[in-house]
Amino acid sequence: MAVVVMKFGGTSVANVERIRNVARHVKREVDAGNKVCVVVSAMSGVTNQLVAYVREASLLHDAREYDAVVATGEQVTAGLLAIVLQSMGLQARSWQGWQVPITASAAHGSARITGIDGSEILRRFESDEVAVVTGFQGIEPERQRVATLGRGGSDTSAVAMAVALKADVCDIYTDVDGVYTTDPRIVAKAKRLPKISYEEMLEMASLGSKVLQTRSVELAMNHRMRVRVLSSFVAPEAMAPVRLGQLEDIGTVVCDEDEIVESQVVSGIAYVKDEAKVTLIKVEDKPGIAARIFGPLADANINVDMIVQSVTPDGKHTDMTFTVQATELPRTLETLKAAKSEIGEFEIQSSADVAKISVIGIGMRSHAGVAALMFKALSDKGINILAITTSEIKISVLIDAAYAELAVRTLHSIYGLDAD
Ligand code: ASP
Ligand code: MG
Repeated sequence: MAVVVMKFGGTSVANVERIRNVARHVKREVDAGNKVCVVVSAMSGVTNQLVAYVREASLLHDAREYDAVVATGEQVTAGLLAIVLQSMGLQARSWQGWQVPITASAAHGSARITGIDGSEILRRFESDEVAVVTGFQGIEPERQRVATLGRGGSDTSAVAMAVALKADVCDIYTDVDGVYTTDPRIVAKAKRLPKISYEEMLEMASLGSKVLQTRSVELAMNHRMRVRVLSSFVAPEAMAPVRLGQLEDIGTVVCDEDEIVESQVVSGIAYVKDEAKVTLIKVEDKPGIAARIFGPLADANINVDMIVQSVTPDGKHTDMTFTVQATELPRTLETLKAAKSEIGEFEIQSSADVAKISVIGIGMRSHAGVAALMFKALSDKGINILAITTSEIKISVLIDAAYAELAVRTLHSIYGLDAD
């Protein structure tokens, strides 16, 4: 017997037919003797619609009322799934955040889970009742108001429920059957990874892979909770129920690196196209200049990613290149212009036609030459590198967007990731 949290995202519960399919996945686990807590998202598109209603009502609105509206999507799904499960002869009950209760901070719209009391759900496991919990929401205890966790927050709800119930695994069902070495739409030879470490998954999530919300991976890592990414589109009866020790037979298990016996030096190649590059040409090279450039950007809440500073031949000036989210480019340029009196004279160039390509792997900690191989492979294809950043387990380069797919395919192949 295992305790299993099963989370289903928007596309998995898109309509009542899809909810019936989810119920069959749940039934498979119950029939195998597992105890099940299901965490559901809103039906796909519903949260976007609810957010649109709020904005239409008033662009400036009370955050508590925004949450009162947008939390309803999950409530509909939870109730519908409980009804379908009951109609299949299973015992099931829906739970909204306040009923569990899941307590959350007062940061409405991006609240953090502060505690979960899973005792009643655990008690009902004894009589084989399935709990269907609304993702994305909790209750803020001070004012007793619904608080939502930020977009994609149901993943975090699921991991938090798994931790509270001391589950054996947190299964996240989505529309892909696992985490791949790279985007299969670009590289047909991309492979499903049976296992990936928390650290690598965090890098992938923060690089924009939408499979798991970054915060849910952090939470899983902190509590060493095994998370598995699976597809709800596989026929429910064709899948084996959860059996401990056999988790990696399907999907991708996100787990501690110690559990990964045969790890590759590089596990995956990620790319993002939504960055923009800004270069300040010929700024004065003296102490404090970087602070005067990046201080105002930080004050404006603009996230800067890669930074490269080069010295110009006269030794008195420098070029400063950095990247921001492409959507933040207009605000970045305005902020810099406004700070011109502090920064001093400079010319500015910017471009949104850039892509960031990253190679990720915990094996980099113990293997030299990973970066050199990357630079050589890109140069062999005539691809120019505009900026570089590294972390212990990641190397990212900024290149011309036109070469993004060529770069991803080239790197996927030289690091030995192509499927045969
Ligand atoms: N329904 C919420 C959203 O669309 C939460 C989630 O699906 O994870 O962001
Ligand atoms: Mg999601």
